[in-house]
Amino acid sequence: MEKRIYLSSPHMCGEEMQYIKEAFDTNWVAPLGKNVEMFEKEMCEYIGRPYAVALSSGSAAIHLGLKYLGVEQGDIVFCSSFTFSGSCNSILYLNAEPVFIDSDYESYNMSPEALEKAYELYPNPKAIIIVNLYGQPAKFDELLAIAKKHNTPVLEDSAESLGATYKGRQTGNFGDISIFSFNGNKIITTSGGGMLMCNDKETRDKVLFWATQSREKFPWYQHEEVGYNYRLSNICAGIGRGQMRALDERVAQKRHIHDLYANAFADNPFVDTLPTFDGAGSSYWLTGITLTKDCKASFMDIIKALEVENIESRPAWKPMHTQPIFKDCGFVSQLDKGSVCEDLFNRSMCLPSDTKMSDDEVLFVAKVVNDTIYKFQK
Ligand SMILES: *Cc1c(COP(=O)(O)O)cnc(C)c1O
Repeated sequence: MEKRIYLSSPHMCGEEMQYIKEAFDTNWVAPLGKNVEMFEKEMCEYIGRPYAVALSSGSAAIHLGLKYLGVEQGDIVFCSSFTFSGSCNSILYLNAEPVFIDSDYESYNMSPEALEKAYELYPNPKAIIIVNLYGQPAKFDELLAIAKKHNTPVLEDSAESLGATYKGRQTGNFGDISIFSFNGNKIITTSGGGMLMCNDKETRDKVLFWATQSREKFPWYQHEEVGYNYRLSNICAGIGRGQMRALDERVAQKRHIHDLYANAFADNPFVDTLPTFDGAGSSYWLTGITLTKDCKASFMDIIKALEVENIESRPAWKPMHTQPIFKDCGFVSQLDKGSVCEDLFNRSMCLPSDTKMSDDEVLFVAKVVNDTIYKFQK
């Protein structure tokens, strides 16, 4: 293909410039202003949660979220292993210790069984970070019941799942604190940005205070706590407001792309698409496939074949407990031998799920995948 096909790239809807222009025209080119306020308000309405703080990234939101939940030096924080490093880097920023939790085969997300097991080894975690991978919600009924039983607060990492639902409710509602990312590759983007969402004003006010350099209420700049420069700019928030206009359309298109792929692989016995389970309303931010154990092509064979056609694809997230930076951290598997997330990583990859792709382009990608698999099978 002449035109490169991307995994998931920024897709403007055309209304972004109007909000940016408004910010320029009124000289509100700062990390505060009407766009920031309105973007927060619109996200609150969309998610169905009362409070939001717009921040410079999803990572910043996780950092302040964990800090609010009381995570300090030496504390243990449970975190999904099958995720992007942005989920857990903040644990290290706070000098706390990640303990990674395995996935299950039904959701690919945190295994309730492994979480329960983790408490036997680490009875007093300070928080749990539950990730909604690739737009797929985690099994919140089971996971939150365990967290509640042990009195551990939950930070829901919805960076990849804006627009997805669990049992009819938007993701971003299930953690004591939830976060979103508007990085360039996410379902909507502000070029870079994030949001923290919560249920009470006290949490919102404290996070906002930290995010704006912890300025005490004095006539002069008075500081009693460490502060951060983590607020989203009014320009970026303007992009976010424009992007919100297209969110429903983007989610519908992601689901449509997934359905096209699922259909194209229906007759291929060597390919499984991301599973679904009771209550999961995935947004399919990225359509993932998992090759069966008897498939002779590896994900790298498929990635190379797609690259020849100028198509971007990539392996699934490499589990965090197998990353050199986290090699000394604890890990709790769902299995007695090996782990679910390592098995999934060895056999899975993400296909281009860009909302600007035509149906024909999606079908062409699927054809290259199918052809490659059958070529290796001979
Ligand atoms: C993108 C992402 C983040 C981090 O968000 P940034 O806005 O890039 O800092 C965190 N967790 C997951 C699962 C992500 O995909």
